[in-house]
Amino acid sequence: MTETYEVIVIGGGAAGLSAALVLGRSRRRTLVVDAGEPRNAPSAHMQGYLSRDGMSPAEFLAIGREEIARYGVELVRDRAVDVTKDGSGFTVALESGRGVRARRLVIATGLRDELPEVPGLAERFGRDALHCPYCHGWEVRDRAFGVLATTPLSVHQALMVSQWSKDVTFFLHEVDESELSDDDLRRLAAAEVRVVPGTVAEVLVEDDRLTGVRLADGSEHAREVLFVAPRAVPQTDLLQRLGAELTETPFGAYPVVDPTGLTTVPGVWTAGNAMGFAEQVINAAAGGYRAAATINGELLMTDLDAGDAS
Ligand SMILES: Cc1cc2nc3c(=O)[nH]c(=O)nc-3n(C[C@H](O)[C@H](O)[C@H](O)COP(=O)(O)OP(=O)(O)OC[C@H]3O[C@@H](n4cnc5c(N)ncnc54)[C@H](O)[C@@H]3O)c2cc1C
Repeated sequence: MTETYEVIVIGGGAAGLSAALVLGRSRRRTLVVDAGEPRNAPSAHMQGYLSRDGMSPAEFLAIGREEIARYGVELVRDRAVDVTKDGSGFTVALESGRGVRARRLVIATGLRDELPEVPGLAERFGRDALHCPYCHGWEVRDRAFGVLATTPLSVHQALMVSQWSKDVTFFLHEVDESELSDDDLRRLAAAEVRVVPGTVAEVLVEDDRLTGVRLADGSEHAREVLFVAPRAVPQTDLLQRLGAELTETPFGAYPVVDPTGLTTVPGVWTAGNAMGFAEQVINAAAGGYRAAATINGELLMTDLDAGDAS
């Protein structure tokens, strides 16, 4: 028999667990389905979450899982592979073969980072190859930074990181200098960022530390930290299967939502990086909370109006 819940939360990162906590405390029968691959897993520390600054991402999630269990929320380590509209609710098919139903869904499946294919880069990601100065900038302040351009928008990253170090080299990699605007060049000069054309062929590592980059012309540039903007791939497959409307942004296509995270599919909310590129952990948790509180109120009113508040 297909088990039925009031709410299924797909994704058990900060967004999903936060939604589950509020739903559990609202006495809603809730299931969290989590594949267990949170985006910040490569990092040893999570920064910028007030009162949790510096905590390990794994510990943060372990505490969250413990908290939701106190309120009877179930969590399964599984992957949702399909979701279909089913009368007034939804059926979710899991990779294990199990099927589960719910009246409402929170899709908090996050995003995937796709790094440029530069040998040595992936192994350093989240350690000394970094994407976000708000996550790591303080910890690496004043070191020798490189910024690996992936698009002309990488200029923004090179300018931003100059707030954390005055020693910044911008490697144009596959971006042609002619793609930079006069404003870009003026700002880079004002921030004293050195611009180096040429393809980065390899990230150099010694004793488990990033030491620089080698360009295709053989020249080596000593650096201690390399910033890079991976291509963000929002995990919106399930939302798309339900027919949710997406909108293009420079950082991928994200669902169209109202301020509570409600998508264009009635009954389906989203939160965290599945909803937006810029959702840091604290924002993801806040989004999950907001969606959950809205769902609880909406279910209550629906049942009261139907005369079925059992
Ligand atoms: C290297 C790195 C370091 C970072 N450091 C920081 C930091 O210091 N501070 C900060 O605020 N932010 C940091 N971030 C950003 C942070 O990772 C995100 O803000 C946060 O993970 C978003 O939470 P989320 O719940 O939306 O997604 P996630 O944490 O990615 O969680 C999504 C969950 O959904 C699961 N999932 C996906 N698809 C399915 C499916 N079909 N079925 C079931 N489960 C599924 C995934 O396995 C995962 O467990 C960092 C990011 C990276 C890449």
